[in-house]
Amino acid sequence: MPTSDAPSLSDDLLAMLKEADPEVSRILAGERDRQETTLELIASENHVSTAVMHAAGSWMTNKYAEGYPGKRYYGGCEFHDQVEDLARNRAKKLFGCSFANVQPHCGANANIAAFMALMNPGDTVLSLPIKAGGHLSHGLKVNFSGTFYNVVDYGLDPNTELLDYDEIEKIALACKPKVIICGYSAYPRTIDFARFRAIADKAGALLMADIAHIAGLCATGVHPSPFPHAHVATTTTHKTLRGPRGGMILTNTEELATKIDRKVFPGSQGGPLMHIIAAKAVAFGEALQPSFAEYCRQVVANAKTLAAELKSRGYRLSSGGTDNHLMLVDLRGRDAALTGADAEKWLEKSGIICNKNGIPNDPRPPMVTSGLRLGTPALTTRGLGESEMKRVAAWLDEVMGSKGDPAVCAKVREEIRAFCADFPLPH
Ligand SMILES: *Cc1c(COP(=O)(O)O)cnc(C)c1O
Repeated sequence: MPTSDAPSLSDDLLAMLKEADPEVSRILAGERDRQETTLELIASENHVSTAVMHAAGSWMTNKYAEGYPGKRYYGGCEFHDQVEDLARNRAKKLFGCSFANVQPHCGANANIAAFMALMNPGDTVLSLPIKAGGHLSHGLKVNFSGTFYNVVDYGLDPNTELLDYDEIEKIALACKPKVIICGYSAYPRTIDFARFRAIADKAGALLMADIAHIAGLCATGVHPSPFPHAHVATTTTHKTLRGPRGGMILTNTEELATKIDRKVFPGSQGGPLMHIIAAKAVAFGEALQPSFAEYCRQVVANAKTLAAELKSRGYRLSSGGTDNHLMLVDLRGRDAALTGADAEKWLEKSGIICNKNGIPNDPRPPMVTSGLRLGTPALTTRGLGESEMKRVAAWLDEVMGSKGDPAVCAKVREEIRAFCADFPLPH
């Protein structure tokens, strides 16, 4: 990675934009500076490489390429066919499956198309609700999923805060869902895809694994793969997978492949974002390198260290810890009066970016919460290791322990600004 005073493509970009559009240039420079001088602990975010970022800002944005490689509705798609084929082939290799659709604009869109491919409106889907760590596209009432499908919930064991597979099996056998969804937004533990498949088979259901958060870990064996167990896997490409903002659908089931393609286009999208597909190809190429597996192992090692450090300072962790890249911190362990909303605000003032998050069975409303969700993918990309996690935990506790004292926040802000200079972003 270049140091921050080396010439870089993004310096050139900002210089060019300064001429073309000084207002946007100023805003983008501000955002680059924000990312460079703060610690990013949002579990669903990451910092892409320069190659990924600039592929996403390339000539490929100019083209309509509705359809699929070799079967487009527009002329001039020679290079779009090549890049989409490359992205699909690299995706299949990464996840060990026979089919990939790389066109979904985001994770939620991948789920829309997957639902359409697997179910008819009104069919029953069994999923973990958002309040227990699921995603809104798995059946929230106000989302498409909760609007067009009959959603049945499963929960976590109230004592262990872990998936209770025996209970999930009972519910599945009672409600006979068409689809069972596993894969979450705020679950810190390993998912047993084989057990889910056994439940799905018993209940006569299809298994859909939404690996949006853990895709990078699954691709590198740091978390078990959804294949061969899941009938369909959906994912984002921008979380642990460290690619451009986007989605993807994978399967090994030949009968489903054509259906999935048709439900992405023309079922739920128009022209694909070919610049993003080019950037996906670049990111998948990076993820196939041995260094990416090393990165994913470090993400989890960092999460385990951060979790242990917070526990030693009196915080309670949902489920007691983490197996993956994220943890749910129950602030009430440290101080019963602490809320996620206050902590998020105080930490942002201090240069630590994270999000408030409900703890399973949280008595506080979603805009307040008793918890924080913290993840290590972005910090690990910057090169932070386990010893730095100890400093991060100390800063977190200093700010929350002071109840957001403005003098403490200002002091920590300057310490973090100086610290970040040693860990430059890719640019
Ligand atoms: C982030 C996430 C998504 C949605 O991704 P978007 O790109 O924001 O639409 C879907 N499912 C899960 C489990 C997620 O965590």
